Amino acid sequence: MQCMELNNLPDLLEQVKPCTNEGKVATYIPALGEANANDIGIAIYDKEHHYISAGNTEVNFTLQSISKVITLALALMDRGTDYVFSKVGMEPTGDPFNSIIKLETSNPSKPLNPMINAGALAVTSMIAGEENEEKMARILHFVRDLAANPKIQYSAEVAISELETAHLNRSLCYYMKQNGIIDGDVEELMDLYTKQCSIQVNCIDLARIGLVFAMDGFDPYTKEQIIPPNVAKICKTFMVTCGMYNASGEFAIRVGIPAKSGVAGGILACVKGQVGIGIYGPALDNKGNSVAGLKLMELLSMQENWSMF
Ligand code: GLN
Repeated sequence: MQCMELNNLPDLLEQVKPCTNEGKVATYIPALGEANANDIGIAIYDKEHHYISAGNTEVNFTLQSISKVITLALALMDRGTDYVFSKVGMEPTGDPFNSIIKLETSNPSKPLNPMINAGALAVTSMIAGEENEEKMARILHFVRDLAANPKIQYSAEVAISELETAHLNRSLCYYMKQNGIIDGDVEELMDLYTKQCSIQVNCIDLARIGLVFAMDGFDPYTKEQIIPPNVAKICKTFMVTCGMYNASGEFAIRVGIPAKSGVAGGILACVKGQVGIGIYGPALDNKGNSVAGLKLMELLSMQENWSMF
């Protein structure tokens, strides 16, 4: 019952709330600019059917890059590790998530890992299904299973807002198509990717997903092995090495918990065998991570001795 002892969670939240003034809401996807920069919320699930939460836990936000971990798990289950890693590498980049530079300078020119946009786009192109409709239905079904919430949907408004402005992501796709990393229609892939990024959750959904990863793919409530343990392990390793973009090294030192962030302000985190954590704080630092969310993770990890190192 580790997380039930966290009765100072509201105090920790109050402590980090001023940090929301230090960041900025993402606006390069215009619809994300509507978020309230001062929101901050957290939920923590443990394996004994308990969760605790504080702050703006009911606000819906889009997964954005957090969806990359989920589609990676699905692609590994659909295609197997050999195929996936023949197209995408396993190394951190040290570059911003949307950078194109390593695609050109690395040889062979496959994306360095599945957590940067290029790698995630390549992974999304591997999701099994006839048409986008079936592929998106499979992704949504998987997220609903992980979060144990059949009501989860994607926001068509956010998806379209990104689709209309995602010229850099399009260029990553064309570059990869030229080099045989992806095939098929780029606009179709962009349509699927923007929908996947626009899946809406709240902190509680995210914490529940985190718990499944914390338990190596096993849902302790339904007793279902949703993700094979080896796949969950691969996903968590990427969360440690590249989950917080090019701030992953510092996060490993300060926090030491596998985590994945998204530009809508979400952070998904998992403490092995113990708890899943979902955070929402849309004010971001210059690397795209929630400023207050990072601070909250640091305080929690220190207090609970949750670092894996
Ligand atoms: N949909 C966003 C993009 O591709 C996701 C980026 C992110 O959350 N870092 O730009």
